[in-house]
Amino acid sequence: MSIPVTLIPGDGIGPSISSATVRILEAAGADIAWDPQVAGMAGVAKYGDPIPDATLDSIKRTRLALKGPLETPVGEGFRSINVALRKTFDLYANVRPAHSIIPGGRYSDIDLVLVRENTEGLYTGIEHYVRVGEDPRAAAESIAIVTRAGSERIVRYAFEYALRHHRKKVTLVHKANILKFSQGLFLDTGRLVAREYEGRIQFEERIVDAMAMNLVLHPERFDVIVTTNLFGDILSDQISGLVGGLGLAPGANVGLNGAIFEAVHGTAPDIAGKGIANPGALVLAGCMMLEHLGEGERARRVRDALEGTIREGKTLTHDLGGTASTDEFTDAVIARL
Ligand code: NAD
Repeated sequence: MSIPVTLIPGDGIGPSISSATVRILEAAGADIAWDPQVAGMAGVAKYGDPIPDATLDSIKRTRLALKGPLETPVGEGFRSINVALRKTFDLYANVRPAHSIIPGGRYSDIDLVLVRENTEGLYTGIEHYVRVGEDPRAAAESIAIVTRAGSERIVRYAFEYALRHHRKKVTLVHKANILKFSQGLFLDTGRLVAREYEGRIQFEERIVDAMAMNLVLHPERFDVIVTTNLFGDILSDQISGLVGGLGLAPGANVGLNGAIFEAVHGTAPDIAGKGIANPGALVLAGCMMLEHLGEGERARRVRDALEGTIREGKTLTHDLGGTASTDEFTDAVIARL
């Protein structure tokens, strides 16, 4: 029976890379019943809302979405797309794999996955100014919320991910030497969870500043990395940079009520409508979705075809140094399947 998935083509290059991704997944035999829905500027044009209820209702039904990049409308009165999705579906885990694909890059052997806590930490938005004397903005306070339950579920997610994907090690990244309470709770809770996986998955701890250096010096030493919201935000872009930038970086936002798969890059307004965008990141997001559905073998075939096309170097989009259009690149990937 086909699997229902909400498809949000997105704005800018979104529709073109989404249709390329759908073609590739279908050519690989994925049996998916797509439910196309709008969001971003397309949502504003159709419903006056960047994240329309019809789109949220569709994801509530399917619990799965493949999402193209969205333009967030500027101005008051619009709901923030990411906040609405995160809250509605409690998407607590942001998962970003980074894998060396492009030959001749600085690193040829990176294969790691960053699992970022997506709902707590310094990003809860609890902030205020503090008045001192006549100055109403003499100081500012941002409050980081870390809970035992939130820490436990994200670290457990990382370990379960490691088991499911036959990975060997989880590295927990923290700053508990300075932030003894919030980061300390995250670390202590992580250590307890790690004990349950002893003998099956190795566990190590790193302080975030040392981790940033180690990721540049020896990225091949890392496997699955788990960390809190702010550190995850920064390290995830760092690891995208290690493997050649955002053009081939997929991501997933996973929670108890749903999972949303997307490309990390944006709508690329400078090349939108030209037919030259690289669909690679969204295709890799589609592979993550197939794995989430238990279709690991099909995901591997799609990934091999995509990586094979890139490594061969004959049919490449502009961002990868070639002259191929989105359609030509897509055809080349399909020909390899
Ligand atoms: P961007 O990622 O859209 O573009 C940065 C550069 O990378 C551009 O030169 C672009 O042409 C290039 N690029 C990006 N994806 C590409 C692809 N698939 N193929 C070839 N080249 C590609 O970042 P930006 O310009 O900062 O943002 C543009 C818009 O996207 C903004 O409205 C922003 O809010 C939005 N955005 C959305 C998401 C999302 O929905 N997940 C993420 C980031 C940015």
